[in-house]
Amino acid sequence: MSGDNPAQHLDAIPPDTLRKVQQYLKPFQLSQAKLLEVSARLNQDMVLGLGKTTHHKAAVKMLPTFVRATPDGTEKGDFLALDLGGTNFRVLHVRVVEEEQKVLKMDSQICAIPKEIMLGTGEQLFDHIAACLSDFLVSQNLKGQTLPLGFTFSFPCEQIEIDKSILIRWTKGFNCSGVEGKDVVTLLREAIHRRGDYDIGSVAMVNDTVGTMMSCGYKDQSCEIGMIIGTGTNACYMEEMRNVRRVEGEDGRMCINTEWGGFGDDGSLKDIQTEFDVEVDETSINPGVHIFEKMISGMYLGEIVRLLLVRLAEDNLLFRGRTSEALRTPFTFETKFISEIEEQDDGLVNTRRILTELGLEREPVDCAVVRLVCETISQRSADLCAAALATIGNRIRTNRGLSHLKTTVGVDGTVYRKHPKFSEKLRATVRRLAPECDITFLVSEDGSGKGAAMVTAVAQRLAHQSRL
Ligand code: BGC
Ligand code: MG
Repeated sequence: MSGDNPAQHLDAIPPDTLRKVQQYLKPFQLSQAKLLEVSARLNQDMVLGLGKTTHHKAAVKMLPTFVRATPDGTEKGDFLALDLGGTNFRVLHVRVVEEEQKVLKMDSQICAIPKEIMLGTGEQLFDHIAACLSDFLVSQNLKGQTLPLGFTFSFPCEQIEIDKSILIRWTKGFNCSGVEGKDVVTLLREAIHRRGDYDIGSVAMVNDTVGTMMSCGYKDQSCEIGMIIGTGTNACYMEEMRNVRRVEGEDGRMCINTEWGGFGDDGSLKDIQTEFDVEVDETSINPGVHIFEKMISGMYLGEIVRLLLVRLAEDNLLFRGRTSEALRTPFTFETKFISEIEEQDDGLVNTRRILTELGLEREPVDCAVVRLVCETISQRSADLCAAALATIGNRIRTNRGLSHLKTTVGVDGTVYRKHPKFSEKLRATVRRLAPECDITFLVSEDGSGKGAAMVTAVAQRLAHQSRL
């Protein structure tokens, strides 16, 4: 589905070249019919993921989160939050104020996670996290207190309880040994005890999608979907308990972490995977895993563009047939370049700068082709996200027997926030694919931090109520 018309800059490309370039781009341009098919397929996989006997081998994991309620506005207190698995690792101090219905971020700190730690042992990772938290508590003068902690851990976890969460597998460039199959809360507590200089209170484990939904839910109580399009991609939503076959109970709802990034891991997306997607997957640190995510999220978009540019140059359609050392090096074409190149006013200036930095030709025709490639790849990403979001919207709608659904999705992630046209592209395609759903998009203000505190606060409220 083509988005905005890139006709202006296409003038710079000779018709014969344009025709040949289009041959490479065609497999990335998904028709409305194809997107509807993908959306229907995802729905089938979601049903398998929810099923009692089918979930263990389902590609789309549909993980119960044990979050049964969105905020009701009576939550309050001081919390710590950790946010691991996005662009940065952060530690936060968050205050939830009841009277003003506000979640305040008191302070936060970014801690770098060196590559050696991302690929090291689990013990090193959790020692590093515990050390960052210690530094933060000292700087905030909080070391004597034992505050409850919300842990936004943005990886697929089998959640046993709100404070017991087993990592199924790493994604997005993390690969620490000895963590898969283990309870992440225990690993964190053990690391804190190894230090012995401070302690934490109750812990709530939260996926970033859930934090995003919850942080928007405090403002807009019809927010029942959370979506991330950043380094990785995923969504959660409120599902009817009667459909969550793997968890006891028929009444009410529970938030389900879909882990839609794993869609296609059983081969179901072969028809839309291009040779470039196959290469990105095969050369990644987790081949065969998170196929859908690898077509959509920030960790991979730049790399898809890079592979296309190399191929176009080899076919003499770009850069006068020459590549450069930089362009031939994996991950040198950053996803943020796509955003910069597609910018309305400065796009061309940015393109020239980026091509120069990469040691490439920057004639008008090169700039125009590079932009066309970027637009195609970001459009496909938005289209696939839209197909998946349409699936969720339609599920909620049919669950409730409605002919029309009005709902809100809380969104976060660098691709959604930073790409100049992504949100527009996404919205337009969702409208076409799910005309019965009227979806409002609410950008989450720091869902991974505040949302984690919110989940902890709601868990405390529910625990308190059940003791009364
Ligand atoms: C993870 C999800 C996460 C998403 C967005 C994916 O790689 O599996 O748990 O929500 O990235 O951060
Ligand atoms: Mg995040």
